[in-house]
Amino acid sequence: MATVAETVRQPKIRHTECFINGKWVPATSGKSFETVNPATEEVLAEVAEGDAPEIDAAVKAARHALEDGPWRRMDARERGRLMYRLADLIEEELDELAALESLDNGKPIRDAKGADLPLVIDCLRYYAGFADKIHGQTIPVRGNYFTYTRKEPVGVVGQIIPWNFPMLMTAWKWGPALAAGCTIVMKPAEQTPLTCLRMAALAQEAGIPDGVINVVPGFGPTAGGAIVKHPGVDKVAFTGEHLTAQIIMREAAATLKRLTFELGGKSPNVIFADADLEAAVQGAHFGLYFNQGQCCCAGSRVFVEDAIHDEFVERLSELNRERRLGDPLDPQTEQGPQVDRNQFDKIMKYIDLGKKEGAQCVTGGERFGDRGYYVRPTLFDNVTDEMAIAKDEIFGPVMSVLRFRDIEEVAARANNTFYGLAAAVWTRDVGRAHYLANKIKAGTIWVNCYDVFDAAAPFGGYKFSGQGRELGEEGLKAYLETKTVTMALPGE
Ligand code: ADP
Repeated sequence: MATVAETVRQPKIRHTECFINGKWVPATSGKSFETVNPATEEVLAEVAEGDAPEIDAAVKAARHALEDGPWRRMDARERGRLMYRLADLIEEELDELAALESLDNGKPIRDAKGADLPLVIDCLRYYAGFADKIHGQTIPVRGNYFTYTRKEPVGVVGQIIPWNFPMLMTAWKWGPALAAGCTIVMKPAEQTPLTCLRMAALAQEAGIPDGVINVVPGFGPTAGGAIVKHPGVDKVAFTGEHLTAQIIMREAAATLKRLTFELGGKSPNVIFADADLEAAVQGAHFGLYFNQGQCCCAGSRVFVEDAIHDEFVERLSELNRERRLGDPLDPQTEQGPQVDRNQFDKIMKYIDLGKKEGAQCVTGGERFGDRGYYVRPTLFDNVTDEMAIAKDEIFGPVMSVLRFRDIEEVAARANNTFYGLAAAVWTRDVGRAHYLANKIKAGTIWVNCYDVFDAAAPFGGYKFSGQGRELGEEGLKAYLETKTVTMALPGE
């Protein structure tokens, strides 16, 4: 581990209350909850525990901002300008925000600075550019009528996000919602509320009117549930587990809310013998261990063609053994702790299960150190399709390597899951790449790369991995209603 002098300065924790109608307020119950530094297991801060009364106040503020406030009257270009300003403020504070993200979530500072923050800024700028380019069509209809469509904001949107990319998930939700002219009630994950609260303060500083963005920290079934049930919320955008999405879908039925979901995965990463082996090894390593394996699109089922299997596993194991675990604030650190005790325990349980089910644990398989929720990069070889580690989303640094012989076999096995978020194919054969890209039922297919994200490229899942898409123009449409206006014209 690095000495303290080499590590990044501890960031200030400036906001721990609810942000409602532009004001910082405690929970009316007076309750708070702890957010913990997963690297040290120490409490970082006590955060206001929002619940139904705070959600109600936030919804009222968002409704007022939508119907009566300056947000409604503001022209779209000005709305875009405020979003650019928010992106600029985040960029100015990049170092401190990255450190705060790293502290609360445990992700290495090099990832927070090099991946999360640049993607956050890019996403906000991408959607800022959209704000004044949202328009309907004129449509030729039968008869003497003039018909056109208007694109209107869906309204007050509830946004519920997870802890794995707290700022990035905030940007993915705020970007399209603000561009569309919606107003927002957001609940960040209880494990990682700090950066979302800081972003709310920066949004206010950018000039986004009070009530447009409200952030209520709290727990899922209480604060989250209150968003889902509130009749004043027009749409819920949720990222998290499919089991939670099922609860949300049921609870949202009473008020028939619009719903978009980005859920889990068990993504296949298929490596053919003709692939650039070095690139494929690096890609498989990055595709699973990035962000401590806490990615919904993690390439956790690595299918390796028989002919290269042994060499592939050997080279991958070498990378795993070299991976630098340690203090997330040390710029040299490549892997930090898992986000909390629950996730750590769940991952260790799956590692035990993998060993019991007869998979061969080639690297890792154990905790790293005795403080913080660290798990060594774990590679299981000789995994078969029925094993729990090949079926369930583990959300940790645990890779399953499975052998295959031919393309039809691997296509069928890749699809043999109720998830369908992402997949990758590594080959030099273009025809084969396109064949599998068509065949695999997943929202994103990477060919000879992994985890390539861009604000312009839609992302989301088939099957149990989600509904609707985020990012790109499709992500914007999820925040718009279409209104058709038909006018009778004078004459015959
Ligand atoms: P994870 O396992 O990644 O924490 P969850 O689906 O449990 O996934 O959590 C994702 C987000 O959903 C968090 O903000 C959490 O508080 C929230 N959440 C959990 N349960 C509910 C619920 N019943 N209703 C609304 N939101 C919920």
